[in-house]
Amino acid sequence: MHPLHDLTIKKMHDGLLAKEYSSLEMTQAFFAWIEKRDPEVGAYLSLHKDLAVRQAEAADIAIAQDTPAGMLAGIPLAIKDNILIEGERASAASKILENYTAAYDATVIAKLKKAGSVFLGRTNMDEFAMGSSTESSAFQLTRNPHDPTRVPGGSSGGSAAAVAAHMAVAALGSDTGGSIRQPAAFCGAVGLKPTYGSVSRFGLMAMASSLDQIGPFTKTVEDAAIMYQALRGHDPMDATSSPRANDDIADALLHPTLERVRSLRVGIPDEYFIEGLAPEIAQKVEEAIASIKSLGVEIKRISLPHTKYALSCYYIVMPAEVSSNLERFEGIRYGSREHAASLSDLYRKDREAGFGTESKRRILLGTFVLSSGYYDAYYAKAQKVRRLIAQDFANAYKEVDVILTPVTPTPAFKIGEKMSDPLSMYLSDIFTIPVNLAGLPAISIPVKGGLSVDGKTLPVGFQLIGKHWGEADILGLGQYYEKL
Ligand code: GLN
Repeated sequence: MHPLHDLTIKKMHDGLLAKEYSSLEMTQAFFAWIEKRDPEVGAYLSLHKDLAVRQAEAADIAIAQDTPAGMLAGIPLAIKDNILIEGERASAASKILENYTAAYDATVIAKLKKAGSVFLGRTNMDEFAMGSSTESSAFQLTRNPHDPTRVPGGSSGGSAAAVAAHMAVAALGSDTGGSIRQPAAFCGAVGLKPTYGSVSRFGLMAMASSLDQIGPFTKTVEDAAIMYQALRGHDPMDATSSPRANDDIADALLHPTLERVRSLRVGIPDEYFIEGLAPEIAQKVEEAIASIKSLGVEIKRISLPHTKYALSCYYIVMPAEVSSNLERFEGIRYGSREHAASLSDLYRKDREAGFGTESKRRILLGTFVLSSGYYDAYYAKAQKVRRLIAQDFANAYKEVDVILTPVTPTPAFKIGEKMSDPLSMYLSDIFTIPVNLAGLPAISIPVKGGLSVDGKTLPVGFQLIGKHWGEADILGLGQYYEKL
């Protein structure tokens, strides 16, 4: 049987069609490996063994009957715990949803089911996707597969760690301010945050609706293109889903030409190479720039002048939306009902017991910035700043097609290092947050050869940010970087 460690979607698809192995055999091999490896990593909250076996058997039958099988038929995936799979637990790693069973499939799940994929289990995350280390999960710690004393990043840390530790071929995560790209960079996986409106949010537990997007973790950029092609599409069930998501760009995504890639102009923004960016990360990103340049593309220095306001802007807009989205968890429709004397007492007790510290902090912040008297000073102002940040990108894209930046200011940090200092935790998303504010697509790709820290090799990522609907540009450039 094929060893799991270098198994990509592409390779496994070829192996399945060549009947080198069955999806069921591989699915069982993944479960055996998860049993061995996951006690240390802690990527999965629970496994969907029955569902996975049923899905693998169905895929094997389809392949045996030579029913035309798509690239994802029979491929084992891990799913972040805030994406609904009908009949399975989904808790967003929160105590308030500990016993919640999803009543329907998220649109992305329905699409992957149709494509014949296998769902191995649900992965750990920061509670309601709020965090950068997966330490705010109510249930367990996830460790970085490259160094167990370090975090995997977050909030989709479980999905990143599952792919990096070969406990799934690919995974789904969600990205509101960097939660796919940052953990991908920390764990050495490829992570794609698609254009806002290109992948349906229906069935994704909302954190901040104007920023959230679902996207894939994969081992290669080629696989990220395969996943994105499967996930994208207009969805009437999501009011912010765009009809443009149905444009046929499969060929550009899956078979980029070198000629096209070479015609791309790549911008390097001065504001991303600042104090606070660790010199060893700057060095690795410079290496990536040199490799990209060697493909024959033009590299230009550019400026995104409002970058320094992005973090403050995000920490007003995001909590405002969080405070509103998390209102529904009130102990009646969701949550274990605490014994209470009155309705308001019930709300108070249930939310007090059900939410963790970070969720409470953001609900308070968000309620404050939306409250009368403060709305104009904070929320309305932040919306204007958001506009300026988006405008910066629009201006830059008059000169370039793709923007290349670091993903994180440092490599994966130590477990516990930032838990008592939320501001330093928030800073780890400084390079990813502007992208969500502007609704752009971006991908985190591991720089070749990691960084040696304390005798361990830690991965470092670089980020390619595309124009709206420019996934083919960043995935094309990434695929050629990968081939170097
Ligand atoms: N780490 C960021 C935050 O805490 C981003 C989270 C995310 O993208 N879901 O909000």
